[in-house]
Amino acid sequence: MSEGFKDPGARHGRHLVVLSGAGISAESGLRTFRAEDGLWEEHRLEDIATPQAFRRDPQQVRRARPNAAHKALAELEQHGFRVSVITQNIDDLHERAGSREVVHLHGEILKARSSVDYGLRYPLPRGGIRLGDLCDKGSQLRPDVVWFGEAVPLYAVAEEIAAEADLLLIVGTSLKVMPASNLYAAAPLDAPIVLVDPNADELAEPGVLPLAESAGQAVPRLVRHWLYQGHLGLPDTL
Ligand code: NAD
Repeated sequence: MSEGFKDPGARHGRHLVVLSGAGISAESGLRTFRAEDGLWEEHRLEDIATPQAFRRDPQQVRRARPNAAHKALAELEQHGFRVSVITQNIDDLHERAGSREVVHLHGEILKARSSVDYGLRYPLPRGGIRLGDLCDKGSQLRPDVVWFGEAVPLYAVAEEIAAEADLLLIVGTSLKVMPASNLYAAAPLDAPIVLVDPNADELAEPGVLPLAESAGQAVPRLVRHWLYQGHLGLPDTL
């Protein structure tokens, strides 16, 4: 546990903005890319971040269950805090835990979308997407997943949300994927930024408070503290 960080104290509001990455779903059994046991340790990039590879993954996501971190964030929202989740994850575990405001920067594996209109999105057809499955505008459906090299259409929305944060909580991301890795720069200067990740001490940029623990340990503890306090002030010791 990191010690000695004081709450910068400028904001004691109730709008939590969360930036989550693959690590928040690790304790639900979905593997990350870059952790020691992550997918990139044993697979080539093109084997897992391509259209073909994603065809295999929906079943795994459907079987996974939200863990204590997803649930704690939803609980905070149920108690009257605004909790805006911006996730790099393509799973739906935040929603299944009960979070209502979730922006999927990199899309959703359980959805299909039009190849001409980003806004036209549909539940994934049974058996996956086939050639000839069309959107309402007559173009081929494709997985609703942003692949390497593609634009991230929701990034501007995410920046607007981050700019309203009373506290930015970054959870389980190596902060290696642009542009999500820059999102913290959009947070107000006086909003504390906390990074929960077992490798937080190495990953945290200056000005980011590292909390080197798993999401399932740290997030519920922070949420309990915020619920007790009634606002997003940080404990004296993280
Ligand atoms: P990443 O794999 O680059 O980094 C994962 C981070 O999670 C690491 O820093 C690791 O230390 C941390 N981590 C591991 N276990 C943790 C735990 N129990 N609690 C907290 N943190 C933990 O992931 P990324 O930064 O999200 O970027 C990878 C890209 O791959 C993203 O676009 C993401 O959407 C995608 N991806 C998504 C899923 C998913 O939807 N569940 C899974 C794998 C990869």
